[in-house]
Amino acid sequence: MRRLFCLFSALALLACACDPETIPQHDTEIPSYKPADKKGHISYQLLIYSFADSDGDGIGDFNGIKQRLDYLDGLGVSAIWLSPAHPADSYHGYDVQNYTALNPKYGTEDDFKALLDAAHAKGIKVYMDYVLNHTGKGHPWFSSALAEPSGQYRNYYLISETPSSGYKSFPMLAGYSYNGQEWHAAQSGAPKLTISSTSEAVTGSGGASWNLWAWEPGREGKVVTMKDGGNNSYYAVMDINGKMGFLVRKYPNWDAGSKFGAQVPESSITEGVPMTLAADGGDMYFTGNGRYRVSITDAVTSSVYYMGAFGSWMPDLNYGDVSKVEENACFLDMAASVDKWIGLGIDGLRLDAVKHIYGGMNSFNNAANRTFLKKWYDRCNATYRKTHSEDFYMVGEVWLGTNEVAPYYSSIPACFEFDFWERLKWVLNQQTGCYFAKDIIGYRDAYKAVNPKAIAATKLANHDETRAATILGRDMARMKQAAAMLLTTEGEPYIYQGEELGYWGKDSDDGGADELVRTPIVWDKAATAATGDLGGRIDGTLVTDDISVANQQKDEQSLLHTYYAFTQARNTCPALANGQMSRHPVYNDSNTTDGKAIAAWYMSGSDGSKALVLHNVGTSEKALTLDDDNLNTIVVKLGSVNVSGKTVTLGANSSAVFLQ
Ligand code: CA
Ligand code: CA
Repeated sequence: MRRLFCLFSALALLACACDPETIPQHDTEIPSYKPADKKGHISYQLLIYSFADSDGDGIGDFNGIKQRLDYLDGLGVSAIWLSPAHPADSYHGYDVQNYTALNPKYGTEDDFKALLDAAHAKGIKVYMDYVLNHTGKGHPWFSSALAEPSGQYRNYYLISETPSSGYKSFPMLAGYSYNGQEWHAAQSGAPKLTISSTSEAVTGSGGASWNLWAWEPGREGKVVTMKDGGNNSYYAVMDINGKMGFLVRKYPNWDAGSKFGAQVPESSITEGVPMTLAADGGDMYFTGNGRYRVSITDAVTSSVYYMGAFGSWMPDLNYGDVSKVEENACFLDMAASVDKWIGLGIDGLRLDAVKHIYGGMNSFNNAANRTFLKKWYDRCNATYRKTHSEDFYMVGEVWLGTNEVAPYYSSIPACFEFDFWERLKWVLNQQTGCYFAKDIIGYRDAYKAVNPKAIAATKLANHDETRAATILGRDMARMKQAAAMLLTTEGEPYIYQGEELGYWGKDSDDGGADELVRTPIVWDKAATAATGDLGGRIDGTLVTDDISVANQQKDEQSLLHTYYAFTQARNTCPALANGQMSRHPVYNDSNTTDGKAIAAWYMSGSDGSKALVLHNVGTSEKALTLDDDNLNTIVVKLGSVNVSGKTVTLGANSSAVFLQ
């Protein structure tokens, strides 16, 4: 592998590129970088459990990531966001049991430290995913809070015997409306399953805390996510014609360690008669002909309720009155855990679900959340600044529209830009590029008005969304252009594990399953991919040897090579790396007929450099005559790009960046 050529030699090499025949093709070798050469602020979202397995147990781990740092370096990334690394019940880790420890499935603290050191040596920062809204039900704070009403951890959670009125006594829920589905009875004992005839509508996927695994004997089964029926009951309505087998999972993912089934395997369920379930029990069968409601009821042994906006297995934390949250014991415990990881060498945090910390799932309190986040950031940054000369990085998941995200920039330096992908997928699927630059500039202006240093963390899909490839109809030309547009736009982009390889999949909101958008990387052979933590929910048509990293690295027409070309351009062209977007005088939101398919803008770098960015998102070739632009030096291109004098002809789904 060669070292990245420096920008000046690149320009010299490209200076004669005015003739289409001499436009350089992207080098099929894999780029590599010196740390200081990664100027494009490109981050990579990585799922520890499904990225790379180093020890053959099928579960991704810290050593696996360390072994693949060359791959991440080739993608030009200067930071990785790790999925939650703490001990947890679920495979995804968002139900943390201990913030000061690491999940032993992923390795030891020494392994983690070695990963940090190796990443830093390659100029790659490491961000931990922090879940501040809730812990897992398995956190000792929670057991202690329930067991000892006068103990020190009782107030770490929102616990009430009369939640429908008692919720008002919690400062965190000021201005909040009671939502019974967010409150759960503390409970123990065995759940019961009941099947009853019904005329209700069949329920779809999506919902609450239980999964039903249903199958006809001898045929492939399906997972049904049950809906919350209140009072610790969950249900699904389905048509059953003949014999059907059932098993149950207590959590909305397949590997949370809570399978329930018949106390005596192969038992038959009688209509209307509750069957007591056993943990890790056996298959159950029901024979019917018609429509049925399949209900699960948990045994309730306590009159105490707790708030868990994301479900009964994730109790919300109680940080108390936000005006003095910096003195709150839970806040201080959480902050102390971050101090530990900063001491070990992490460079930043990705914060989960921050709009739900104060308030509930549907009626959140922005002002209190912003105050909380400002104090949280300042607390973490104070620790970080003791040993660093720059500020701590923190990016929040504020899953809202631009105008609602903008105020959060008064608290934290970066937020994910969900509207970016909403606009971009529309642009690509509607073949309408003329409004794109105006929209993105508008978002940028809204953020910068709040904080001139606001960092819009742009992205395509993430681990909670249907894959970009699926949204784009698995159309390779559009998938490549999505990458090109992400990497030529202002902001600090994130690449989500597998997007660079064209992975597809629908999430649970879209009739699929979350595991199917969190597919393991196939490095060489599918057989060695880190599939072990996904409970068998793997798309066998995707996890194949053919779509491997090794094969895509060899194929210069692959999506991965488009990522290589554009990440390299972003890292080496200052106008792309840190540029500010501005509208093109001809191809902009006013040019909605002739220029409808063209997304054009300038990127102006802090060093005075400037680049013209052109994307034809249409399905036919388009010739653009650009009398006032410089078309002599092309930085990077996608698809068919031909320059003749002052005219550039862009093929369908073709893109080019010209230095000005
Ligand atoms: Ca492993
Ligand atoms: Ca909350």
